Amino acid sequence: MNVEILPVRKRLFLGLLAFSLVGVGLLLSGIWYLVFRDNRTLIDQILLLALAGLLVGALVIACFGTGGIILTLLYARDIAVLRGPMRVALNLLFPIALALGRVFHIDQDRIKSSFIEVNNQLVRSKEFKLLPAQILVLAPHCLQWSGCPHKITVNIDNCRRCGRCPVNKLLALRDKYGIHVSMATGGTLARKFVREYRPRAIVAIACERDLTSGIQDSNPIPVLGITNERPFGPCFNTEIRIERVEEALQFFMRRS
Ligand code: SF4
Repeated sequence: MNVEILPVRKRLFLGLLAFSLVGVGLLLSGIWYLVFRDNRTLIDQILLLALAGLLVGALVIACFGTGGIILTLLYARDIAVLRGPMRVALNLLFPIALALGRVFHIDQDRIKSSFIEVNNQLVRSKEFKLLPAQILVLAPHCLQWSGCPHKITVNIDNCRRCGRCPVNKLLALRDKYGIHVSMATGGTLARKFVREYRPRAIVAIACERDLTSGIQDSNPIPVLGITNERPFGPCFNTEIRIERVEEALQFFMRRS
């Protein structure tokens, strides 16, 4: 078992997941206490027991899911039978993990970044051999140079490829591999592109906040998330290391 496989960025999110499980366990104990207080009516007891039953079910699935995530990350192997519980653990416990982060004054972007790392490694534990046309690269509008007059969110081919921003390099990747590339101004447009192209896998470029929501929205389509670089602050003339995008594309295309 190689602990190097779980660097600090991933351990942060996993630690918060474990704390979230403890929180749900404490909530269950509270409900249990209320059920058996002397002055409860039978109806109250039945309702509370039903609620406790639901929570116990969710807790058991989330425990299996969290265990599955840890094993997948440690051994870099997909555990097909635990895919469902892993998704439940990621999606159900993520908001609780964020809330706990707020309580402990942990930067929200750090937690989201950790979530993205965990998601990416889970995706990388599976094997893919997709055709280029089955892959969609979703990029944020803020990659476009702010002074560019061309409306590329309507049609990315409106880019004149002057080279002043990374859109030029994304289009070069599209030409090289034959993948789809779209530029979205937000979640609604991103969902529209996903409906239009029906990809089997997505390489998403965005800030931590948009990537986490995009990864969850796209479920069950696998998404490799790549955070953009923001040398001029958020949402303005952002940058991307194009080799990371290309490596993600090659990952989805090369495995059998
Ligand atoms: S590369 Fe395309 S999008 Fe970027 S500034 Fe030039 S024309 Fe505009």
